[in-house]
Amino acid sequence: MYTILLDNSLLFTYCVRRAMDEEIDHSEIGLKAGLEIHQQLDTRTKLFCNCPTTLREKKDSTFAFKRYLRASKSEMGEVDRAAREEAKYSRTFMYKCYDSTCLVENDEEPPRELNREAIDVSLEVALLLNMNPVDEIHTMRKIVIDGSNTCGFQRTALVATDGLLSADDVPVRVDSLCLEEDAAQKIEAEGSAVGYSLDRLGIPLVEICTAPDIRTPEQAVKVAEQLGMILRSTGKVKRGLGTIRQDINISIAAGARVEIKGVQNLRLIGEIVKNEIVRQLKLIALKEELNKRGARVEHRIKDLSGIFKATSSRVIQKSGGNVFGVCLRGFSGVLGTEIQPERRFGSELADFAAMYGAGLMHTDELPAYGISEDEVERLKRTFDATDNDCVVIVAAERARAEKALKAVLRRAEDAMREIPKETRRALPNGSSAYMRPLPGAARMYPETDVPPVNIDEQRLHAIKTNLPETFAHRNARYKERFELNDELADKIARNINFALFEHIMDSYKNIPVTLVVRTLTDTLTELIPDGIDVETLEDHHFMDIFGQLSTNAFGKEAVPDILKFLAKKPELSVEKAIEEIGLSVNMGEVERLIENIVNAKKDFIKEKGAHAVGPLMGVVMTELRGKVDGKLLNKIVAEKVKEVLKED
Ligand SMILES: [Zn+2]
Repeated sequence: MYTILLDNSLLFTYCVRRAMDEEIDHSEIGLKAGLEIHQQLDTRTKLFCNCPTTLREKKDSTFAFKRYLRASKSEMGEVDRAAREEAKYSRTFMYKCYDSTCLVENDEEPPRELNREAIDVSLEVALLLNMNPVDEIHTMRKIVIDGSNTCGFQRTALVATDGLLSADDVPVRVDSLCLEEDAAQKIEAEGSAVGYSLDRLGIPLVEICTAPDIRTPEQAVKVAEQLGMILRSTGKVKRGLGTIRQDINISIAAGARVEIKGVQNLRLIGEIVKNEIVRQLKLIALKEELNKRGARVEHRIKDLSGIFKATSSRVIQKSGGNVFGVCLRGFSGVLGTEIQPERRFGSELADFAAMYGAGLMHTDELPAYGISEDEVERLKRTFDATDNDCVVIVAAERARAEKALKAVLRRAEDAMREIPKETRRALPNGSSAYMRPLPGAARMYPETDVPPVNIDEQRLHAIKTNLPETFAHRNARYKERFELNDELADKIARNINFALFEHIMDSYKNIPVTLVVRTLTDTLTELIPDGIDVETLEDHHFMDIFGQLSTNAFGKEAVPDILKFLAKKPELSVEKAIEEIGLSVNMGEVERLIENIVNAKKDFIKEKGAHAVGPLMGVVMTELRGKVDGKLLNKIVAEKVKEVLKED
């Protein structure tokens, strides 16, 4: 397979600067991004019924039922584009119910009045974001047809508009804050059947949308962090994996607007923005390359089953030997070109085939998957394909294969014209995959079952007078109490972990405050590029780490390693981590080790006197870094050196 050298100056500069860790001028690229954050509220009951907001073990389900959903026209008479797309795949939905869910979740009873507690929390957040609350809250319906709600729509209510926050002193407008019901949780998918769990359906969410005022990936992270910090400062939001989800709208001047959904890890946002910039720049370069080559897409789908009669490919055997394919003229090397980490242009096409449950293979990557050289040759011959062309095959029965290949052809044609506007799904490594077209505007209509709620001045006043501490106040308090400098005080006061920070400082005495701040901010961020999922780390992990550190169980240098270990195995204790990483040491052995080092360097010590401690510490630290606190080691080394000097 030959790789394409993408010829595009903007892409080249961007990638080179990124690789060199150099400052990038994002205004050159014309980056515009906005965030949409969904946070579950920790209210006693759900948004439209009195069921509790707790998640259940799926095995405790007491009852299940089935539904078939169809795209229906909205009351405005239009069928949403995304909804229509979804309806192409006819699906059956299975719903799991519990003794903690009721007929409202099942869509057998109308929703009750909006939850008052949830309204109050959302108003509190709105005020913290300097927003203007609406006079009256109206519940609306938003069509969803993926089965994630039993009634076919999600209920949402606008609470406030026109807020403002700042990241790096750049103002970012907050367009809207809505109160919404969470969707049912997808728990299984097999063929055309999808299973959902109703325990999550109806948990109140606030949805906060910023304007597309974000101009750099770093700003995106800062805005997300600040929103997270403000939400947490209310003390009334749920914590833990899956309780906060971010969507990002991204566009670059020469590209298209794309919405990336379902980022669960706040710190991954920067990577996602960077990877989307690269994806779009590379798609532009691929488009130029394809047009230069005069590439074209042939719509002739051929039955290729004959070629694979005696194949040893498992994938093809499993499809009953059914193989269909198309030829993309002038596409050689294009499908094999990497456009995001671990994703090639072929993966983009494969996303479309996967919508119809079909896998895709192409001659850029073949022979592989048990397909032989000879079979590849015969594939090419069937299409009269030259070395410039790419043959794409799908192993599935005719109807499915044809649908899948038609979708692939449409995407390939787009590649020569423009970057498609689309909704994508965030992947754990910071890449993204195609999900569906961008939804259109005809998505909302009034929910007549839920009465509007008037927000009176008295209520607003009560919330206003009880707002949590502001960021500026907290910042000043940290400076005074912990003697932090501006940078560190700002960092932790804005950080989502500020409450945990205070808890650690209140619980353990002799712990350096700088270490705690760095650990909860920079250290966690630095672990992300190594592929460490720091979101699995919970408050108790940090409490344990600093608890153990306060008893000198290990040296502070080992904190990042312990975090890495626990992020991978969050069920284990810090003690176990210390043991497994090999940090547990016997102080007797440490003294003996230092003695050996000192004894071997007696001449050096006699020559340098007390100045020998520094160089000796270097040797000792290479052996014991992270295992024993550096200060303690320094003390032992100094004592041993003193003893040697006394010898004469
Ligand atoms: Zn209920």
